[in-house]
Amino acid sequence: MTGETAFVGLGCNLGDRQDFCDRALTLLGLLPRSQITGVSSYYETEPLDPEGILGPGWFYNAVAQIHTNIAPLSLLEILQETERGLGRDDQHRQGPRTMDLDLLFYGQQIMNLPNLTVPHPRLHLRRFVLTPLVELDPDWHHPILNTNVKELLHGLQDSEQIRKLDCVPGDRYGQHPTCNPSSQ
Ligand code: ADP
Ligand code: MG
Repeated sequence: MTGETAFVGLGCNLGDRQDFCDRALTLLGLLPRSQITGVSSYYETEPLDPEGILGPGWFYNAVAQIHTNIAPLSLLEILQETERGLGRDDQHRQGPRTMDLDLLFYGQQIMNLPNLTVPHPRLHLRRFVLTPLVELDPDWHHPILNTNVKELLHGLQDSEQIRKLDCVPGDRYGQHPTCNPSSQ
């Protein structure tokens, strides 16, 4: 089968966070020449800077695994379009956000373009990214750090709080056959 396995990180700390995540997953499920092959649980995570620009609201975070034939830059454009469609305000890119979609990995490719760095340059520092990644594929290899995501998570020194939620991702839209029931 042609195509690549890509991982997309979801984050939302404004409005009905579960609904925004469900809607983002629904839109990812509509990507052309692609299919969702896994969705992590939803996690609620402490903002990294509660006093700062992201505001005090806890995030909902999740990761989706997709198999795609969309090229990386086109995929990034679609993710940004999806962010805008879900109400993200480009004028305040660093502020509280209805949806942040990050391209975490695109196969084992390494890319350093002006607007796209893959693997995502901060994923190995973020518990809210590594935890759902490990849920989906603990052995997934980081092509630059040359270790897997499980080891990266074990190596984190931070004290960021994260809790796994009971809700079923995509549930409200009822179209996520790819959610892994065993991980709920
Ligand atoms: P963060 O996701 O780290 O909180 P932003 O979403 O505000 O930051 O950053 C968006 C910018 O990051 C965009 O201009 C985009 O071009 C750039 N970018 C670089 N690499 C990636 C990537 N792998 N995934 C998503 N955005 C990326
Ligand atoms: Mg982003």
